[in-house]
Amino acid sequence: MRIKTRLIHGGVDGDPHTGAVSVPIYQVSTYKQEAIGKHKGYEYSRTGNPTRHALETYIAELENGARGLAFGSGMAGLSTILSMFDKGDHLIVGDDVYGGTFRVISRVFTRLGLDASFIDTSDLGAVEEAIRPETKAVIIETPTNPLLKVTDIAALASLTKAKNLLLIVDNTFLTPYWQNPLDLGADIVYHSATKYLGGHSDVVAGLVVTKDAKVGEDLHFLQNAVGGVLGPQDSWLLLRGMKTLGIRMEEHEANARTLAKWLSERKDLKRVLYPGLESHPGHELAKKQARGFGGMISFDVGSGERADQVLSKVKWFTLAESLGAVESLISVPARMTHASIPVERRAELGITDGLIRISVGIEDVEDLIEDLDQALS
Ligand SMILES: *Cc1c(COP(=O)(O)O)cnc(C)c1O
Repeated sequence: MRIKTRLIHGGVDGDPHTGAVSVPIYQVSTYKQEAIGKHKGYEYSRTGNPTRHALETYIAELENGARGLAFGSGMAGLSTILSMFDKGDHLIVGDDVYGGTFRVISRVFTRLGLDASFIDTSDLGAVEEAIRPETKAVIIETPTNPLLKVTDIAALASLTKAKNLLLIVDNTFLTPYWQNPLDLGADIVYHSATKYLGGHSDVVAGLVVTKDAKVGEDLHFLQNAVGGVLGPQDSWLLLRGMKTLGIRMEEHEANARTLAKWLSERKDLKRVLYPGLESHPGHELAKKQARGFGGMISFDVGSGERADQVLSKVKWFTLAESLGAVESLISVPARMTHASIPVERRAELGITDGLIRISVGIEDVEDLIEDLDQALS
């Protein structure tokens, strides 16, 4: 089955009891047992719920993994993954990861005894150098947020396999429609499903998929033990949103390519970052390991003042955090999504005050170009 067909027919198809074409919302917390321990596979909805199960089966299939797990947010999913590690364990984490990822690792899990090094994982030599005897995993995003740096997943996977480390990939930006990290050798893939998978700015959720069934079992134990599960209503919203992932991603990308090209031809911008541009350092690699470049673009207008001007003048780009929805969104990472990263660190990374990030929606691209043109003038 090809991906577009899998998006429609994958996972649990409808309801066998009634023939309903969509999976019902099982708004239930507990399940009747015929005798102690004798039940139909469900005991309590933190442990398992049929609507959530349908979603978990669906994302596992889409990512070609053994086990899928749904959480109340991307951060709940990541925090559950992080709960696999012990005091004293060391992690290597991308230096340009989502601000919340940096925050939960550096301000919560390190307090509990985990140690982490934030490294430019697009530089494999730097990753290798950072490995210590107590290193247990490498956590990356590719492309990254907001600098869109690309890491070679397959090359990194050979390194992590040789060193017996887990490779964990945040696939939020490309989704399984464009990129399948598990096929390239990663062990765990996770998503902020709040973004492209949901796609309509109406649900906060996280999805995790493991390559290996045993790692999946371990994570299900933690999902149930920690309890950050996704409720049935939101599971259903995601199932519904994801049916159109294919057509949405095609449109996001087509619009982003056109906009990136248009932006890169302007003379009044400091730089334009989009992996689909031939000038992007990660372009060839992105082409090799993914089927598309996605819908995120960052560009530097030179100063915080000019960024303010653009933000106040745009009409079709909504000033908001988040990304991946049908409507175009615009933000200044330094003062919004990445504000939790210390100033010196932001400067080191190149997340300047003039850096604007856009999540290109599926509006008519001519309207988006006209809008950015008037806002930049
Ligand atoms: C939003 C985001 C997260 C966090 O997910 P939530 O659903 O907001 O908890 C993690 N990684 C990336 C790349 C994100 O964009």
